[in-house]
Amino acid sequence: MGNHKRFLAIILILALLFSGCSIISKVRGNTKVNIEQSLDKNKYIIKADLDEANKIMTVTQTVHYKNNENVDLNELYFHVYTNAFKSKETAPFLFDDFNNAYKSGFSPGFTELESIKMTQKDIASNLQYRFEGEGQTILKLELPSSLKVGEIAVIEMKYKVHIPPAGERFGYNEGSFNLGNWYPVAAVYDESGWNLDKYFAIGDPFYSDTSDYEVTINTSDKLIVAASGELLSKNAEAAKLQWQFKAENMRDFAFVASDKFKILEKNVDGTQVKSYFYSGDEIAGEEALDYGVKSLRTFNDLFGKYPYPSFSVVQTEFPSGMEYPGIVYISDKYYNKDTNNLPLIITIVHEAAHQWWYGIVGNDQVDEAWLDESFAAYSETIFIEKEFGRQPAQGYFEDTVKQSVEEAISSKQIDGVIVKSLKDFKSWDDYGPTVYDGGALMLSQLREKLGDKMFFDILKRYVSEYKYKIAKTQDFVDVCEKVSGQKLDGFFKPWLEKK
Ligand SMILES: [Zn+2]
Repeated sequence: MGNHKRFLAIILILALLFSGCSIISKVRGNTKVNIEQSLDKNKYIIKADLDEANKIMTVTQTVHYKNNENVDLNELYFHVYTNAFKSKETAPFLFDDFNNAYKSGFSPGFTELESIKMTQKDIASNLQYRFEGEGQTILKLELPSSLKVGEIAVIEMKYKVHIPPAGERFGYNEGSFNLGNWYPVAAVYDESGWNLDKYFAIGDPFYSDTSDYEVTINTSDKLIVAASGELLSKNAEAAKLQWQFKAENMRDFAFVASDKFKILEKNVDGTQVKSYFYSGDEIAGEEALDYGVKSLRTFNDLFGKYPYPSFSVVQTEFPSGMEYPGIVYISDKYYNKDTNNLPLIITIVHEAAHQWWYGIVGNDQVDEAWLDESFAAYSETIFIEKEFGRQPAQGYFEDTVKQSVEEAISSKQIDGVIVKSLKDFKSWDDYGPTVYDGGALMLSQLREKLGDKMFFDILKRYVSEYKYKIAKTQDFVDVCEKVSGQKLDGFFKPWLEKK
């Protein structure tokens, strides 16, 4: 996510040149979707009907769940993040900004589960299930018999999603719907067992494996849908629209639907970059496309090619920026008549960098958030350097990253430990300077220590080795040691653990 507080520190004036180039949107032709016979990962087939008047979505979700662990599983767990929005106490409004998030007052959002069925070894059964955890965001399914290593269970859920009036990852506002973390997503089973964390109000508290998705969304013909994945078809019938998306090897699926959208798009290295913006915000909409394209081009070069067919930059009501695979939310307050609009540009660059750091290379964003956030934060400086030169990049780095870390350290409010769970951060004022800026400062010093060539070789190798997988802190350290041929524990430990 983008940390909007960082923009308060920006005093740098960049000589940015406007160079928008765009074509008007065209929906791609029809392609039939086939269910794969042999799965190597989970697959979600989701059909959602959005009732815009009542702010309710009626959903049928079929999950082909593959046991890719090395133990048999007797139960399965799903995160139902929407339930955190059911009460004021658990609603994860960001930056402690309740009144901005719920402009028209609080009203609950949640998922009303209607049925769950499961087919395992061709035997269909109704499942025992219950909700657990703070905010009831964990759905536990008791399996009738254990799911052996390599076996697939097919789980069908029917549910209604009640969307809250919030300018958040999940919520609606005037004419737009933000659907982030909106469907039950399988929890990750890793070497520590099941990861069943609550929806923390700090950070992006999500952790998921890559999966394949086929998602059909039905809306009225007034809405335009921007989503993770590739739009396969858009069919119109009797004032309704059916949007069909496909996504492979993505770790989440989000979308935004709005009656205000206009679209500009451009192809870069085989990826269709799209800018969705409100009618009337054409200047910012073009700049958003331009920097979506430039971000992808720069990071393709430096980190390894973005492997998906589309990337959408979406204007919506949100406090800052938020990354999802293939789609990023960008706060509508950054869209104005200015060109060279730094908050808009930097937020797009930051969220685009997350396509690599979190999207392509996954991580546990609860226990090791630095693995995506520090990298995304440092990618801002890298982008400025490549696009505008070393001097503006140095200025930006001094005025944002360094200043933020120095201020936080001198305030003595933080312990500076970068690798720790979200539950151990006191607030955004602790999390931001530590995980965004402390980690970015560490990466810049790693680069200084090893030199440019080795540093970028490390990033490329890290991406190619952990593409579509989950990386841990030690995995990154290992790649650094392999590429550099140096022992680097002594470098990392004081930064990461303050030891
Ligand atoms: Zn971020």
